[in-house]
Amino acid sequence: MAGRRAAQVSGAPRIAVASLMFEANTFAPGRTRMDAFESTTFASGADVLEAGQGLDSVAGAVAIAREAGAQVIPTTSAGALSGPILAAGVYPRLRDRLLDGLASHRGEVDGIYVQLHGAMVADDEDDVEGDLLEQIAALMGVPVAASFDLHCHFTARMAAATPLLAGYHTLPHVDMVSTGERAMRLLLAELEGAQARLAWQKIPMITSAEGQDTNQPPIREVMDRIGEIVNEPHVLDASLFMTQPWLDVPDLGWSAVVVTAGEGGLAEQRAAELAQMAWDRRTQVRAPKVPISEALQRAGCTAPDPTQGPVVFGDGADSVSAGATGDGVEVLAGLLAASLTGRAQVIVTDGEASKECATAGVGADVTLTVGGSLAPEFHGQIGVTGTVVKLTDGRFTSLYPPSPVDLGATAVVRVGDHLHVVIVERPASQLDYQLYEHVGLDPQDAHIVVTKSAGGYRAFYEPIARECIDVDTRGPSDSRLDRMPFRRADRPLWPLDPDTAWRPAAN
Ligand SMILES: [Zn+2]
Repeated sequence: MAGRRAAQVSGAPRIAVASLMFEANTFAPGRTRMDAFESTTFASGADVLEAGQGLDSVAGAVAIAREAGAQVIPTTSAGALSGPILAAGVYPRLRDRLLDGLASHRGEVDGIYVQLHGAMVADDEDDVEGDLLEQIAALMGVPVAASFDLHCHFTARMAAATPLLAGYHTLPHVDMVSTGERAMRLLLAELEGAQARLAWQKIPMITSAEGQDTNQPPIREVMDRIGEIVNEPHVLDASLFMTQPWLDVPDLGWSAVVVTAGEGGLAEQRAAELAQMAWDRRTQVRAPKVPISEALQRAGCTAPDPTQGPVVFGDGADSVSAGATGDGVEVLAGLLAASLTGRAQVIVTDGEASKECATAGVGADVTLTVGGSLAPEFHGQIGVTGTVVKLTDGRFTSLYPPSPVDLGATAVVRVGDHLHVVIVERPASQLDYQLYEHVGLDPQDAHIVVTKSAGGYRAFYEPIARECIDVDTRGPSDSRLDRMPFRRADRPLWPLDPDTAWRPAAN
């Protein structure tokens, strides 16, 4: 591969480590600005290794490097909660910071490992990670390995920049650490002279996360096959990138990627096979949703029973961890109209309402208008009358992903006997239940818990839930992709074009 040093390293290799994590949603209104990064995980030097609290891909990569006797040189990391695309000028600043951190070790390192999400889009760059990998490889002139989220929007530029690429194998994502281990093993193999080659197949399909559970058919079948392929002779790694679907960019679609050592058509054959397997299962990757009225009926059939756990409503179309804004109130409207028999709890983003509560104080009765404050093209407003029962500064540590959180003014308003509405100033990722615990609302003894997440919430909630129900709502991360206003994505693309015909071709 042009520009990539193939020489073997003698002695203990020196490996620079960097990280830049962000998942864009081009349908979410507004722009993500620099302060979203600075206020969360802007680290340099040794702090880069601590930023993920040992639970991210950096941790896995570093552990494997050290096991192999390599010297690890942490440089910079940055990340932000999923959201709208980056405003013009933000990506160049993040890129320059990352490249500057590496440049000071130019000529001193044998390889680079970088932790990326893979679905970062900016006003000034559609393919952030492709551009970044190109620039890192050109600047440093040594092999570059990267780990990605399973929702990476894989591109030809990434494939051309380096073959040393590995993505998560799980949804819900629970293999961040082992993905970092895999990426580092690719790098170490390359430094030992593997001459890795990568083959990939773009698959003209997109699906919502709710149907991508890797523990269930049909995706489990493809993942099982990946497990067999990576154990074959000469195969170094394989990934199925199911792409962030709420990205209106050219060349959108799933990708199958296989990395082998040396020449030969094995990588191409296996990538084509995985792509065909995924394509053949496209109609089975379903995101069954039920109307809120039906969800309430199902939850209401049984009286609240703390020993059985809560009924969890997934509001996937307003999934903050998929870049939506968390200001949808369709489920809240349903709860307000329902005859609740036990505690129900829901989170909504509304900066003005949360500040009104802070001004009113604990114990005050308030009448608020909430909803649609950030994405009015998707969400309406609704009136909420209740009592402020808790106020916080919205600061705590989330477990999934592991990071410090700052939601600003946060209030809990109790409506009637049972409904608790958590109002946050800024969008809150709801994959785990740390926010509910932070305000004293333990989900385990609630009757109904709402989480604005498209499937990813199941890692935390399924073990405690009596039932998880995905509710049919509208929003920037709607699982009904045919309802979304795609304009730039290459066509045909299933399911936007239901009659799409396709078969793998040589790449
Ligand atoms: Zn993901």
